[in-house]
Amino acid sequence: MHITINGKVYDAKPEQMVIEVARENGIYIPSLCYHPKIGKAGKCRVCVVEVEGIGGLQTSCTTQVSEGMKVVTNSENILEAQRMVVNLMLANGRHDCIKCEQNGDCELQDAAYYLGIENPPYQFGIIEPQIDDSAEMIQVDRSKCIECGRCVAACNNTVVNEVLEFGNRGFDTKIIFDNDLLMGESSCVQCGECVQICPVGALIDKRAIGKGRTWELDKVETVCPYCGVGCKLELHIDRKTDEIVRITGVEDSPTNEGMLCVKGRYGFDFVKSDERLTTPLIKENGKLREASWDEAITLVASKFNGIKKKFGSDAIAGLASAKVTNEENFVFQKLIRREVGTNNIDHCARL
Ligand code: SF4
Ligand code: SF4
Ligand code: SF4
Repeated sequence: MHITINGKVYDAKPEQMVIEVARENGIYIPSLCYHPKIGKAGKCRVCVVEVEGIGGLQTSCTTQVSEGMKVVTNSENILEAQRMVVNLMLANGRHDCIKCEQNGDCELQDAAYYLGIENPPYQFGIIEPQIDDSAEMIQVDRSKCIECGRCVAACNNTVVNEVLEFGNRGFDTKIIFDNDLLMGESSCVQCGECVQICPVGALIDKRAIGKGRTWELDKVETVCPYCGVGCKLELHIDRKTDEIVRITGVEDSPTNEGMLCVKGRYGFDFVKSDERLTTPLIKENGKLREASWDEAITLVASKFNGIKKKFGSDAIAGLASAKVTNEENFVFQKLIRREVGTNNIDHCARL
């Protein structure tokens, strides 16, 4: 079907919401509670548009397209309504962008920029930081939370860890972990999905604090080195020190749709660890000594040949690894089947 946005005709699919068609075509409608992964939200009312034939403003994240629909996203009436909501959000939190870790990667900041908001006209008194630093990898600052509900939806419906909820009512409403425990004392598994989906700086990666803002970090896509699922990662790298500052999941990866486990997202300190082995080690008289690859491989081959000669090929088995590539696993099973002569080959992904 076709719909018209700001006077131009665009293709649309029947099940789409107006905001999805707009985004596909590069039309910015500010939004805060909507995220493609959690779907319809309709809470924050920042994404309002005008639809011909329907009175009042409609939230574009919950308005389904229909043939011939005519939508306006940028009338003065709309911008005024959006400014009001964004101004109230800015006034109701501690939004000191200059020192915020989310600076440059914040959807509230983007909305304020688009709407030309420089100094919010309201102020609800001085708002102090409300930091929960109890968890290993994630810092919570409720003074920056805009109560959009994305983290709650993601924790319950996307990663299904069922830790986050909204607690209390009215001005006291806040996100809570389990029965209002500290994050570090709750059943949170530190998967970081809530951090990734939070549109502002209310949930942040602790290890990345003070290590660079988004525009100072190079982004490199790669595949997680841990298990065989093969989640796609984006490494955020400090180009001066060549160190990984943080890792996020790639949202358009069909494998993981942006989700990661605690290892993939936070287990990267091994990369530059001094404890990494750089040469093979051979144990002699109970002590390990460094060896060359030639020496180590010759020793291992002679031991395998000795076992094969004495007990037969089936006395040997190979266990392949999810941490290496398919090609390496292919070569390994060839080695075990053809050179060693046994079908005793398995893979750690099935442990
Ligand atoms: S959360 Fe966003 S709007 Fe608030 S201080 Fe941080 S960058 Fe600024
Ligand atoms: S880190 Fe994962 S489990 Fe913990 S609250 Fe966030 S989404 Fe839920
Ligand atoms: S912590 Fe972030 S995602 Fe969760 S409700 Fe607050 S602003 Fe939204």
